[in-house]
Amino acid sequence: PSEARDRLRIAIQKSGRLGPPARALLSSCGLAWREQADRLFCRGETLPVDLLLVRDDDIPGLLDSGACDYGVVGRNVLLEYAGRRPQETGSAAAVELRGLGFGGCRLDIAVPEDWDWQGPAQLQGRRIATTYPRLLDRWLVAQGVQADVVTLSGSVEIAPRLGQADAVCDLVSSGATLRANQLRPVVTLLQSEAVLAGPARPFADARGALATMLLRRLDGVLKLRDSRLLLFQARRDAVPGLMQLLPDAEPPTVMQVDGGDTLALQALCHGAMTWQRLEQLRSAGARGLLVVPVERTLA
Ligand code: ATP
Ligand code: MG
Repeated sequence: PSEARDRLRIAIQKSGRLGPPARALLSSCGLAWREQADRLFCRGETLPVDLLLVRDDDIPGLLDSGACDYGVVGRNVLLEYAGRRPQETGSAAAVELRGLGFGGCRLDIAVPEDWDWQGPAQLQGRRIATTYPRLLDRWLVAQGVQADVVTLSGSVEIAPRLGQADAVCDLVSSGATLRANQLRPVVTLLQSEAVLAGPARPFADARGALATMLLRRLDGVLKLRDSRLLLFQARRDAVPGLMQLLPDAEPPTVMQVDGGDTLALQALCHGAMTWQRLEQLRSAGARGLLVVPVERTLA
């Protein structure tokens, strides 16, 4: 909806939970910028890609108006905004382009610990406090439950103790905040994480090529984030069983050790290499296991 531009503009959270990981992600894609106190706009120094540092709630609106091209924002915020948008106008609404794997949380209904939870019907006629009224409304309608949605801008978890609500619909990661307020999560409305939001359709101007390059780099970074180079030795007859334990591995490089029955293998694995997996590999005959971080790949 805006004039032709030759620089991309990406909105990220200025502070808060998503600010640091969003900055780390963009810099691993090769962006560099200098931040100055009180400056919301940061000019990209390595690529024609600029940053806008804002409150997370403002990001969907900035995308919708065309003021920004991409945003890093919680799926919860993006979907809540989408629910608020007036009926499909055919405008280039921002959509989720990639899940980014950080900022994970759930949007849950939580009820007082002393409730004997029987199911959603128990919310009929009750007051539910939330900062996500659209997402909650949509869920209530789907459940056929009529409840009173109390929209608050924050501190939702204390609403029941203050007598403002009977239950809450709030973001939960560890659940510690709910427990501290004698609340218990009972239903999940949404699994959320930080996402890259942007236009569903490609840019028609110079931003198009830039966007393609940025997304390609982002995909490379996301793909490699859990990837490790795994090195180990094993007897030849143990190798097929070991490879079955590594379904996420690229075809390995295999070398013979001492011309004997022992092989040395190296494989790029894309799933998390936990201690548990290493123990399994060891039990299946792998020795000298070495897990090496991978900095970059180019296919
Ligand atoms: P801002 O000042 O930018 O408006 P905020 O206080 O609204 O910040 P944060 O608390 O920093 O937002 O949360 C940003 C996002 O982090 C949330 O929208 C959500 O997607 C994600 N998140 C992950 N875990 C949690 C959690 N336990 N509570 C709240 N948000 C979480
Ligand atoms: Mg906010």
